[in-house]
Amino acid sequence: MPGFELFDQREIDAVTDVIKRKMVHRYSFVRTRDEIYKCEEFENAVAQKMGAKYCLAVNNGSAALYIALKNSGLEPGDEVITTPFTFIASIEAILQCGLIPVLAEIDESLNLNPEGVADYITDRTRAIMPVHMFGGCADLDAFQEICLDNGLSLFEDACQAIGAKYHGKFSGTIGKWGAYSLDPYKVITVGEGGLILTDDESLYHRMEYYHDHGHIHSKIIERGAEGKACLGFNFRMSEIEGALGLVQLSKIDTALERMKNNRDRVLNEVGAIDGLKLRNCSDADGEIAMNIIYLLPDASIARKFQNAAKELGVACGNFSDNSWHYARHWEVLRDYSAKLRANSGCNCDSCNSYPLYRPNEWPVTQSILERTAVFGIDVNMSDESINLMIKAIKHGAKTI
Ligand SMILES: *Cc1c(COP(=O)(O)O)cnc(C)c1O
Repeated sequence: MPGFELFDQREIDAVTDVIKRKMVHRYSFVRTRDEIYKCEEFENAVAQKMGAKYCLAVNNGSAALYIALKNSGLEPGDEVITTPFTFIASIEAILQCGLIPVLAEIDESLNLNPEGVADYITDRTRAIMPVHMFGGCADLDAFQEICLDNGLSLFEDACQAIGAKYHGKFSGTIGKWGAYSLDPYKVITVGEGGLILTDDESLYHRMEYYHDHGHIHSKIIERGAEGKACLGFNFRMSEIEGALGLVQLSKIDTALERMKNNRDRVLNEVGAIDGLKLRNCSDADGEIAMNIIYLLPDASIARKFQNAAKELGVACGNFSDNSWHYARHWEVLRDYSAKLRANSGCNCDSCNSYPLYRPNEWPVTQSILERTAVFGIDVNMSDESINLMIKAIKHGAKTI
């Protein structure tokens, strides 16, 4: 799955070139850099490939979410509805802005369930942020309609979904903004990096200033003399990552295709088995094949299936155990969200009475996650490992 599987001489050359030229800063040195701007080239290439008007490269995916949320016009105490099945950064980014994360239930796509979301909308709700888990897009048409009906903004945490499509459009290009991560676990990687896509020119400029101390970037006036638009902070990407990103982006189609081939070899060989169904994303064709995610008839069968697969030496996960991605396991969030809410500057009744994070408040999510059996798909897989996975799934299916 990870982009570093595809590292070769081209990444080495790209980094070496930046070092040789001694031009590691994405801004600055306007007179000596020969007009070479790797981060900017990378941003333009991403925007063009994905079909977005603007792209801002930043230092990681968590920062991408934070910068976008921070500049979307929300006020401390405003609520953002998202999912309890995500990487914790989605929720941390909301909290860091003094906003209140409201975690609704998922459906059998393992993404936020649009049908349940209406129950969580209050007069403080400002946005819905679905997370496209494991490269499968949430039902964005449904969320767009809910947002339109209720005057809310739609944001996309597409950190796990660079290259995924939703009815022909790339993930991250459908909401007001979308964020990708380029960390080592994602489809393409630069070590640490993030990208924000948007079609909103004014939002793009606010984010672009904010991510670099408010600097109004100029290619004529030297850095420091060009003036500031606002206060901000430093979330810059360096030219090393920009150069790496350009090479990785040129490999994304190959990475996606190879994972899809590997997954389809397994699925075709396993064939249809009663009681063994795949998670159902609203656009299954657009899903990245980074995993095979089965839903079994019940939790106990899922355990037996998982153990049977493991007997053959094949790693098989159950998402209800996943402390990395499931809010039920995040004890730290309870204290932290209480503190942040106290510091958010909002003391209205609605904020103070809103239920805090509770570890067991997602019965539907739990009932879905405990039925999962998950296999990881890599870009490079030997015939042997593919055949073993097929064998493990067939062996597991005997327990149904
Ligand atoms: C990886 C990830 C992030 C954060 O990205 P980093 O680059 O690791 O900071 C945010 N949200 C989701 C859903 C992720 O998977």
